[in-house]
Amino acid sequence: MTASAPSPAPDRATLRVEQALQLLAQSGHPPLPGAPGSVAWLQGLIDALCDLSSRDALTGLANRRSFEAALGREIDRVARSGEPALLLLLDIDHFKRVNDSHGHPVGDLVIQAVAEVLRDTVRPMDLPARIGGEEFAIILPNCAPAFGETVAERVRLKVESQIVKIGPAQTLGVTVSVGGAYAPQWVRSTAGLWKERADLQLYRAKAEGRNRTCLEPTPVSLVSPEEKGLLFGTSNFGEFE
Ligand code: GH3
Ligand code: MG
Ligand code: MG
Repeated sequence: MTASAPSPAPDRATLRVEQALQLLAQSGHPPLPGAPGSVAWLQGLIDALCDLSSRDALTGLANRRSFEAALGREIDRVARSGEPALLLLLDIDHFKRVNDSHGHPVGDLVIQAVAEVLRDTVRPMDLPARIGGEEFAIILPNCAPAFGETVAERVRLKVESQIVKIGPAQTLGVTVSVGGAYAPQWVRSTAGLWKERADLQLYRAKAEGRNRTCLEPTPVSLVSPEEKGLLFGTSNFGEFE
């Protein structure tokens, strides 16, 4: 068998990359490594585009697409390892009033300030994401049920104490409502069902007056009939990496 020689990397002139490079420049990405057209340069371009497509442009947090992917991976990991994982959903309280009273650009500043708090409050292994207009989520792998409430409250209190500068002499405070649920351990579930549970708690936090945390009361064995069906239908029990 004769090994074929690797084909040379295409040079930049033969690649249609101008639009991609423009997008990167607009996003403030630093110059790519290596000579244009080289393997290092192309890999840098691919990495930078992947990064760009997984981040929210306003806040720099993970966007909805990468959140959904991470949630799917996490639920698989919990089913295999049995490690507890917490999903928190956060929604800014009365955010419409901020936009109505101060304008959309100030609303954007508030969203950025909340994102900053989330980024600074969680562990490096946690994934904070912006999943909608003024809606955020945090995936917390390996988070013991005894700590869930403390972690969620820490985030909520940090947002509450954050003073957002919206003008030379003007500041604003905002609060968030937080809903949370643990992924069912040792059971194959779906990301959609996990999110639904956390969303139910977020709804409860709003209904009970906002600026509060509601976590699903029984973290381990709240297994719905649908999840039981998934367990017996498509269980990957016994499969390990
Ligand atoms: P609640 O406490 O029930 O959550 O009340 P709310 O006013 O926050 O209600 P709602 O979730 O309906 O309002 C969300 C508002 O967020 C409506 C929309 O105009 C605004 N919004 C969505 N995306 C953006 C954005 O990117 N920037 C700004 N400034 N506003 C946004
Ligand atoms: Mg909302
Ligand atoms: Mg809201």
